[in-house]
Amino acid sequence: MKSGLIVAIDGPAGSGKSTVAKLVAERLNLPYLDTGAMYRAVTLACIKKEIDFSDSDAIFGVVKDVDIDIKNQDNKFEIYLEGENVTGAIRAPQVNANISSVSEILEVRKVLVSKQKKIGQSGAVMEGRDIGTVVFPNADYKFFIDASFDTRVDRRYKEIVKKQIPITRVEVEQDLKKRDHSDTTRKYGPLIKTEDAIYIDTTGISIDEVVENIAVLVSSER
Ligand code: C5P
Repeated sequence: MKSGLIVAIDGPAGSGKSTVAKLVAERLNLPYLDTGAMYRAVTLACIKKEIDFSDSDAIFGVVKDVDIDIKNQDNKFEIYLEGENVTGAIRAPQVNANISSVSEILEVRKVLVSKQKKIGQSGAVMEGRDIGTVVFPNADYKFFIDASFDTRVDRRYKEIVKKQIPITRVEVEQDLKKRDHSDTTRKYGPLIKTEDAIYIDTTGISIDEVVENIAVLVSSER
């Protein structure tokens, strides 16, 4: 199935992986896919349909039929839900609060992983939690991007405040703790550091430096 170059970038929330992945994709002239945005869009669809997040059958019903469209033009990643641009809306605190109930369901993961495989088949820089382990276990390059918990909370807090969404640092801390726990302990597609992934700790180093190192490594071996 795979014919293009795949760069898999996994890591926890706030590690800087999205920024890194986007810039690496630009540098390598490859499509970029934020798989977290797909889980977010499904969660938003469930909120809009007032689905009970403890009802996994109802959530699966939503993911089966939902129309998610991804546009990736001029280095701008945008996601549409039933034709509506939800690129900003999927970052709402209500989505963060409920996303783990969605991403823990095997059937939901199967549907989204299958879409991700299709999107990436001709080459991509793809970021998420299970890209190097489940979506593209044979990816050409696998990176695990990490940072200290405090650094990750700081980054997420600044990002959210910049978007003028009211939130406290303590709320960001609680959200990351909850999602870290769910992301690393869930039965299907958990976030794990594997031996075949290059581990990069971005605490105290600039994102530009990380991008440069990844782009140089990939380009030199292409
Ligand atoms: O990357 P981001 O923080 O936007 O991801 C949001 C959530 O989506 C994660 O906390 C996780 O629950 C889910 N996710 C996932 N698998 C992926 C990407 C994201 O389960 N590949």
